[in-house]
Amino acid sequence: MQGMMQDWPMRVSRIIDHAARYHANRPIISRSVEGPITRSTWGEVHARALRLAAALGRLGVRRGDMIGCMAWNTTRHLEVWYGVPGAGGVLHSLNPRLSADQLIYIINHAEDQWVLIDHDIVGALEPIADQLTTVKGYIVMTDRAHMPETSLPNVLCYEDLVDAETGGDWVDGPEDDACGICFTSGTTGNPKGVVYSHRSNVIHSMVMLQRDMLGLSSCDTVMPVVPLFHANGWSTGFGMAMAGSACVMPGRMMDPASIFEMLDMGVTVSAAVPTVWLPLLNHLRANALALPHLDRVVIGGSACPRAVIEAFQNDYGVKVLHAWGMTEMSPLGTICTPKPEVLALPAEGQLDTQEKVGHSPFSVELQIRDDDDNVLPWDGVSQGRLVVRGPGVVKRYLKQPEDCVDEDQFFDTGDAATMDPNGYVRITDRFKDVIKSGGEWISSIDMENAAVAHPEVFEAAAVGVPHPKWDERPVLLVVAQPGMSPEPESIIDRLRPLFAKWQLPDDVIFVDEIPHTATGKISKLGIRQMLDAQSYVLPEFR
Ligand code: AMP
Repeated sequence: MQGMMQDWPMRVSRIIDHAARYHANRPIISRSVEGPITRSTWGEVHARALRLAAALGRLGVRRGDMIGCMAWNTTRHLEVWYGVPGAGGVLHSLNPRLSADQLIYIINHAEDQWVLIDHDIVGALEPIADQLTTVKGYIVMTDRAHMPETSLPNVLCYEDLVDAETGGDWVDGPEDDACGICFTSGTTGNPKGVVYSHRSNVIHSMVMLQRDMLGLSSCDTVMPVVPLFHANGWSTGFGMAMAGSACVMPGRMMDPASIFEMLDMGVTVSAAVPTVWLPLLNHLRANALALPHLDRVVIGGSACPRAVIEAFQNDYGVKVLHAWGMTEMSPLGTICTPKPEVLALPAEGQLDTQEKVGHSPFSVELQIRDDDDNVLPWDGVSQGRLVVRGPGVVKRYLKQPEDCVDEDQFFDTGDAATMDPNGYVRITDRFKDVIKSGGEWISSIDMENAAVAHPEVFEAAAVGVPHPKWDERPVLLVVAQPGMSPEPESIIDRLRPLFAKWQLPDDVIFVDEIPHTATGKISKLGIRQMLDAQSYVLPEFR
């Protein structure tokens, strides 16, 4: 016998319908790309997304067509977030910081039909437009007055298109229709396309709204600093509308003063990678500023140093939710909120737990496995490959002939991790970044976190350098805090209590800047290339 409940396809258009129905007047404040602060509401985003969907339909967009979007976090981007899937299209989020070669590859591979683009970054596509073989034209996300001079072919003005429509209906379809696509930020080989369905996005967002996860509510004002184009925008674009939260969209400006200005508009929850928060904390300290509205920050994408957690919580009264996930997981997999077992710990123990990336909600199943695929115990010590399955986890990459999961549907994340008895995950490294010395592993993440706890260290990165006897030896790259010049030995002293003697770095290298990826993570590949270019040798061989 089948259940006798209604067939209600879980499509993302229903999320924005909900926001407009029950939270129509909730404010959405945005720093526009043109400059001024703009004000909108979920009701207006809904109405304008419907008009955009109608315009796309008039341009010939049909169910399943790929539509690129290269844009900063603004209200218009939210309209596109719902307008494209609402037109039946598949929203392909493009990171403007990708190289020209990567953009050519992913736009052609996805077969984007149209590309929506902010007016200030048309230059990212102009030089490569003649190599984008499937793109019929470009919709510049501004009004007539701000349309740029551009060599892009077949250019349309977003506001003209939206103004010309009165509305209509969403294109309907089954919930497993493709809804959006993000490419992995893979460092080897070509980027791989992860195709989210309407269903996976709706389920993932519902799950992440739980109080033990992001816990968004209509009483929150949420500012996603994480770009909507990075890893499905950490599901904020959907979660905020589903919860009916107010929003602050920070636009393009990522410098700490601009971020602070937007946080000060009453933001209660924000989300970003550690490389955004480190300069913000410096800015707050240097200018004796406070964060009176902010209740919690979600920090993920790369490991959040303990020093950042302590600074937010002790100095500014802001709770830190350390989170882990990846493009292939919609993207969130774990969030570090306290279970009762953790609340029962003394303050230091709670802080130790917060260095871990947290526990999983319903619908995310995790295991750690050894090299022979044996499932390892959750003892907080056994370290292995983190594998995952669930309705928000990739099964097959775009246009790949085979699934990327094992026979039990588990996807190998490429991360090395331990799990404690309470189900809290500690990410020790990317498997390929673990430093292997004398047959033992040294966690580059642990070393980096310990180094940034030094008050004169701004950022640190640990990598393994090949060694004839030990296989690899760790070296530490350090960017000093502005105006500081810490002694290398004082940094090693910070590490000593946490690492065995043989694990300590053989060298501390001071640099002006550590290379980062297009999504703001420390680029181990970039560091290795930098050291190679300098013909770097370990001190013992000099
Ligand atoms: P991306 O798909 O670009 O979001 O990258 C996902 C990868 O980022 C994961 O597989 C992890 O290696 C890393 N990552 C994400 N969050 C964290 C975290 N909180 N701590 C350590 N690594 C993280």
